[in-house]
Amino acid sequence: MRGGGGGMDDDERVGHAQIPNSFGHELRACLRCRLVKTYDQFRENGCENCPFLDMDKDRDNVVSCTTANFTGIISLMDPTRSWAARWLRIGRFIPGCYTLAVSEELPEEYQGMCQDNNVQYFPPKRP
Ligand SMILES: [Zn+2]
Repeated sequence: MRGGGGGMDDDERVGHAQIPNSFGHELRACLRCRLVKTYDQFRENGCENCPFLDMDKDRDNVVSCTTANFTGIISLMDPTRSWAARWLRIGRFIPGCYTLAVSEELPEEYQGMCQDNNVQYFPPKRP
């Protein structure tokens, strides 16, 4: 299944998550939507899918709502058409890099913020 190729040149278009500009240990995944970016990117611009988590306003929110503890990264350029996106239930998220799984749950107070914003949160499956 291809379909990614081409179209990579117009990464200036709006509605696109930042792509991690480094793949060191500072990479973190959003605990709510699993978007992967660097700590600095979350710190400066927050999470494109979860602006209500206010990560760009308070770095404590970045620390609480993201984790460095995740497995695998997939790049989703067209989430509406990707099987992986359907499987991950991120079909409505904006294109970007996502991880397949995070092991931590979003802290309860932030889950409450999801509810307040009418945003669904799917906690990771427990073993
Ligand atoms: Zn997010």
